[in-house]
Amino acid sequence: MNNFLTVIGAGLAGSEAAWQAAERGVKVILYEMRPVTATPAHKTENCAELVCSNSLGNNLAYSAPFILKEELRSFNSIIIDSGDNNSVPAGSALAVDRDLFAQEVTAKLSNHPNITIKREEVVEIPPEGPVIIATGPLTSPRLSDQISKLIGQEYLYFYDALSPIVNAATIDYDKAFFASRYDKGDADYLNCPMNVSQYYEFVRELKASDKVSLSSFEKPIYFEGCMPIEVLAERGDRTLAFGPLKPVGLPDPKTGTLAHAVVQLRRENKESSAFNLVGFQTKLTYPEQKRIFSKIPGLENAEFFRFGAIHRNTYINSPSLLNNELELLSRPGTYFAGQVTGVEGYVESSAMGLLASLSAVAKIMGTVYKPPPADTALGALLNYITLSRKQGFQPMNINFGLFWVQEMKIKDKKMRNQKIATNAMEKLKAWKDGMATLAQP
Ligand SMILES: Cc1cc2nc3c(=O)[nH]c(=O)nc-3n(C[C@H](O)[C@H](O)[C@H](O)COP(=O)(O)OP(=O)(O)OC[C@H]3O[C@@H](n4cnc5c(N)ncnc54)[C@H](O)[C@@H]3O)c2cc1C
Repeated sequence: MNNFLTVIGAGLAGSEAAWQAAERGVKVILYEMRPVTATPAHKTENCAELVCSNSLGNNLAYSAPFILKEELRSFNSIIIDSGDNNSVPAGSALAVDRDLFAQEVTAKLSNHPNITIKREEVVEIPPEGPVIIATGPLTSPRLSDQISKLIGQEYLYFYDALSPIVNAATIDYDKAFFASRYDKGDADYLNCPMNVSQYYEFVRELKASDKVSLSSFEKPIYFEGCMPIEVLAERGDRTLAFGPLKPVGLPDPKTGTLAHAVVQLRRENKESSAFNLVGFQTKLTYPEQKRIFSKIPGLENAEFFRFGAIHRNTYINSPSLLNNELELLSRPGTYFAGQVTGVEGYVESSAMGLLASLSAVAKIMGTVYKPPPADTALGALLNYITLSRKQGFQPMNINFGLFWVQEMKIKDKKMRNQKIATNAMEKLKAWKDGMATLAQP
C-alpha cells in the first residue's frame, strides 16, 4: 500500500477527493486527461468543469440538497466553498459563474503543496492503492475497458434513463389502486387509471411540452425499451395506450371495467415510502414534468422526490461491487467516487469524493474511519448506492426518499424537512467527533 493517494479524474468528485486528502497532510497524485485527451462534453482544461447547468442545486434551507451541501460545508468542501465564493443570483438555487468557479478549484488544487496534477489519460488502473477512480459519466473508452475487465462487463452500464419518483404519502388513493396485471403475483403496482379525455389531453400536453435539448453525442442512445415517453407520444396518439400505459389486465376495482389507459407506479424502497412511474424516462424539463405529470389521476398533489432524465452515463453496479467505504470488494485499496458510483449530480458526485477520500486517508494514516450514519444526507446517499437492490440499480440524486427516518411520517412537509435537517446535522457532528483527527485537517 502506497503512502500517497492516487486520484484519477479531476472533475467534481476527484477534485474533492484530492483536496480532502491533501488538507489532511496526505500527498496526492491527481490525474486529469484534459486537455491532452478530450471528453465529448467538457470544453476547458479546468478541474471541476460543470458540463451542463451552472447550478449546484437547491440551496433552500432544509431541502434535501441543502442538507447535503451543509454537510459538505462542514468539511470545508472545495466544491461547495468555491461555489459559495462564485455564486450568481438564482433564486433558491446555488448557481455559480462556471468559469470563475472552475478556475478557483483549479488554482486551489494546483497551488496545494501536497497535490501534483498530471495531465494524462490513465489507461491502466494502478495495481498499488489507495487509488480513487473518479472519471465520471464520460470515462475514457480505454479506461472503461479496464474497469470492465476489473469488475466484469455485466456490472458496467453506459446509459441512464431515470423515471420520476413520487412521495407515496402524497398520492390520492381514492383514485389510484393496487393491482398486478391479470392478478399475477402480489398486487405490487399502484395504478392510476385515465379516461378517454384525460388520456388525450395528456398526450397533447406531452407533444407540446418543453424538452431539454440533447447534446449531439447523446443522440444515438435510445433503444426501444428506453424511449422517452414524449417520443412515444409523438409516434401516434394511441401509442402510449398500447405501450407503457396499456390498461389490459388492470380493471379498476371501483368500476370493474378497464380504463382507457393506466399509469403504473412501482415501489421504490422496502418501506414503500416512494414510487416510480414505470416507463416515464423523459427529456421534459423539470417544471414541465411537474405540470404535466400532476395531471395523472391520483398524482394531482404528488410531491416529486426526483424528476425523470435520460443522458449518457458510465456507472457501475455499486451494490454488487463496493463496500460501505466505496472500496472495491474484490480489490481493497481501489475506490470509486462520483457519478461512476451511481449517484446523480454535481454535489452528489463531490460528496462521494469526500467519503472515498476519508476512507483512503484513514488507511494511509492508520486511523479509524467509520461511514456516516444513515440519517445524514451523506449516509443516505451512501446507503443508496451500496445497499440498494443489485438488479435494476439506477443512479440517484439526494432526496428525502432516501432518508430512512421516522420523521418521514410527519405530514407537514415543512416541519418534516426541518426535523430531518436538524437531526442530520446533529448526527453528522457526532459522527465527525467520533473520528478525531480524520474529521478536521
Ligand atoms: C452531458 C451531461 C450533462 C450533465 N448535466 C448535469 C447538470 O446539469 N447538473 C448536474 O448536477 N449534473 C449533471 N450531470 C451529471 C454529473 O453530475 C456530472 O457529470 C458531474 O460532473 C459528475 O462528476 P464526476 O466527478 O463524477 O465526473 P466529471 O466531473 O465528469 O469528472 C471526471 C473527470 O475525469 C476525467 N477523465 C475521464 N477519463 C479519464 C482517464 N482515463 N484518465 C484521466 N482522466 C479522465 C474527465 O476529463 C473529467 O475531468 C451531467 C452529466 C452529463 C454526462
